[in-house]
Amino acid sequence: MTAQAVQQEDLAVVIGLEVHVQLETDTKIFCGCSTDVADDEPNTHTCPVCLGLPGALPVLNEAAVESAVKVGKAIDADVPAETAFHRKNYFYPDLPKGFQITQYDAPICQDGELEVEVEGERRTVGIRRAHLEEDPGSIQHEGGSIDTADYTLVDYNRAGVPLMEIVTEPDFRGAAEVRAFLAKLEEVLEYLGVFDSQRDGSLRIDANLSVVPGEEIDDGAISDEALEDANRTEVKNISSHKGAEKALSYEATRQKNAVKRGREVAQETRHWDESRGITVSMRSKEEEKDYRYFREADLPPLRVSDWKEQLEIPELPDARRERFREEYGLSAEAASKLTSTKQVADFYEDVAGEYDPDLAATWVADNLLGELNYRDMAITDVADRLGEFKRLVELVADGEITTKNAEEVVLREMLDEGDDPETVIDREGLGKADEGAVEGAVAAAIEENPDAVEDYHAGEDGALNFLVGQVMQKTGGSADPGSVNGLLRERLDE
Ligand code: ADP
Ligand code: MG
Ligand code: ZN
Repeated sequence: MTAQAVQQEDLAVVIGLEVHVQLETDTKIFCGCSTDVADDEPNTHTCPVCLGLPGALPVLNEAAVESAVKVGKAIDADVPAETAFHRKNYFYPDLPKGFQITQYDAPICQDGELEVEVEGERRTVGIRRAHLEEDPGSIQHEGGSIDTADYTLVDYNRAGVPLMEIVTEPDFRGAAEVRAFLAKLEEVLEYLGVFDSQRDGSLRIDANLSVVPGEEIDDGAISDEALEDANRTEVKNISSHKGAEKALSYEATRQKNAVKRGREVAQETRHWDESRGITVSMRSKEEEKDYRYFREADLPPLRVSDWKEQLEIPELPDARRERFREEYGLSAEAASKLTSTKQVADFYEDVAGEYDPDLAATWVADNLLGELNYRDMAITDVADRLGEFKRLVELVADGEITTKNAEEVVLREMLDEGDDPETVIDREGLGKADEGAVEGAVAAAIEENPDAVEDYHAGEDGALNFLVGQVMQKTGGSADPGSVNGLLRERLDE
């Protein structure tokens, strides 16, 4: 190993995240405008409050606060009895008031944690705080980038959409851990029903990264001084798990290289350029004092003393996974697939409650999820058809249709044609053949294949299989191979 390489290896990467998630509420956080703005014309979901018109007063959306408290409960955070809102002052055209209403020294959640699994190892990531705030509007530069555009358009449809900013401790030691954390965070938020990962722009990440000398790390822990001393960069504009992993791998290498060459890492804000796959310097890092925080006088203090006890949250993914293994005797892999989203887990329990849990696991985890995945679909795309899929399992459980036909024909056509199981079965003639028809086919197979019959009597193993195949063909695959086998023997041995 070269001297340089040793030095490189000796640097530890430290990462802390500020994750913005959109809370799923019907209306914005301080006004009654709808948050369902997806394909609507710009500036059609606005009012004096979210446009920041003088004299307009904010009214806090209770649903957003409930969501925030549920998040607090899920990450085991303290939810203080009284919290408050602050104004964060800065000027930008997407922020018509000239300040953002956010929380400062009294966030709604403090000191939480989230457990993640990275390469088979469980790690706890500290969550310093999580607070409520409003989203600004969105800006579109026409005909170029911010410095070359002919003009810029502003859309205030997003302005005032409720966000939660979740700030972690600098507990990550690599980009892969960040990715695992983001996946886990989304999973928990979706279980709580407060977040939709499919919604455009619902997750935005700012990531802080520094490198510290390896000797500063003692059994995974880094001293506060070392963290304080390390110059860190804040990488903005990350909007996906994969983007986070790429941006942070790039940034870690960039900083290590700088240190290796004896250069100081500048404390600054950098921009993740997704298309070029690099981070670029934006500005020296702004400081808290630049924002002139002060109390939002138009909103009274927020008292939520007993909300954490009162609000119910569903069983969370880790606990549910464990219970599935114990209660239904599932493998770790099956339990993990079947708890991947709350809808999948709920559907599994619905089916397993009525039929055999193993049969239910095969049908939900392997067949349904497998076929959905193959079509780039998720269970949410068939949410209103779950009753039909349950009936298909019932038809298999009751022996009304063979497993093979159910899997290879009925399920696939249900997904491709949008038909219910009965329609597909009728159309394809897949109902199990009645006894008379099977007996007829057995008789015909014997009659038409005297050579095979002779071979059977001569003790040739393959002959019986051949005859079974003939019967299956005549019944269009609708007979049960086991009973065909039995029937044939009976006849041939008569
Ligand atoms: P600021 O006020 O500058 O935004 P904070 O103390 O609020 O700084 O921390 C912001 C984020 O930076 C947190 O997610 C925290 O975990 C992270 N952070 C703090 N120190 C470091 C460090 N040395 N390296 C990487 N991230 C850090
Ligand atoms: Mg900050
Ligand atoms: Zn409004």
